[in-house]
Amino acid sequence: MMAGDRYQEREVIEAVARLAGRPAGQGEVGIGDDCAVLPPGRPGSSYLVTTDTLVEGVHFDLAWHPPRLLGRKAAAVNISDIAAMGGRCTYALLSLALPLRLDRAFVDALLAGFVERLTAFAARLVGGDTVASPAGLVLTVTLFGEADGPVLRSTARPGDRILVAGVPGRAAAGLELCRQGLAGLPQFAALVAAHLDPVPQVELGRALAASGLVHAMQDLSDGLATDLAHICRASGVAAVVARERLPSEADLEQAASRLGGDLLAWQLTGGEDFLLLCTAAPAGMANLRAIGREHGVALYDIGWLEQGQGVWLEEQGRRREISFQGYEHLR
Ligand SMILES: [Mg+2]
Repeated sequence: MMAGDRYQEREVIEAVARLAGRPAGQGEVGIGDDCAVLPPGRPGSSYLVTTDTLVEGVHFDLAWHPPRLLGRKAAAVNISDIAAMGGRCTYALLSLALPLRLDRAFVDALLAGFVERLTAFAARLVGGDTVASPAGLVLTVTLFGEADGPVLRSTARPGDRILVAGVPGRAAAGLELCRQGLAGLPQFAALVAAHLDPVPQVELGRALAASGLVHAMQDLSDGLATDLAHICRASGVAAVVARERLPSEADLEQAASRLGGDLLAWQLTGGEDFLLLCTAAPAGMANLRAIGREHGVALYDIGWLEQGQGVWLEEQGRRREISFQGYEHLR
């Protein structure tokens, strides 16, 4: 790769500024000043702020992750956190640590994908930072949002049903297909897309929050067993997942058999599905399912909450604890 193919740091900032476009709203100042200036929030709403760092070799592998989809995913994982609170996205900051080996075409595709995903969810890029990295590529995104009544993890109640907005385990299957060099098999394209290009459930999250029926909510990032454990710990309750109620799909089962993968492990501990996970009283189920259908998403009732602690998998009347058996970042 020729040195001339690479961006200088100043040029990256200029490229980001071009993509970000002009400030849209009154009182907004974007890239080019010492700080971004953001207008005050709407009366009655709360600010939401989330940040997430993706590290090459830990969270993604450039051997199979195309730069445009990596940019989209860096935005999506943060957008999903705003969705998990029942909020809408407003502004984003992007910080890049770029290895010298990455050329202009790579950086352009990465930035284009990032802004594309932000724009689709009505968020605007207003600032960030760029440094040279002596090692791998690192992307840190900070995303702002707002919500009228954010839904927390700490407000689940014993007796609640546990709902998941889609089929968990698909992203884990997609990752395994990439690892084994089988990402090109057309019958598994949707699984590979679940790993490379997840779609945050913002509109669904807002509708669930607005219904007033959801007691606690979060998104599935580290796997069902771990993410449910966060709700249990924060709310002081126990969760029981009924194995026979875990949803599956034909392509997921075919991938498990083709790869020799463990379907149950994908469902319970596979990370990065970015599906909403929520709890609600049984009386609200029919209305919540209808909200799911309006958004083209099946809400699966996979179990319930009880007094106590921990996350338990129940199968044929027997229980075993699965708390925090998800994807661990610090392996
Ligand atoms: Mg989250």
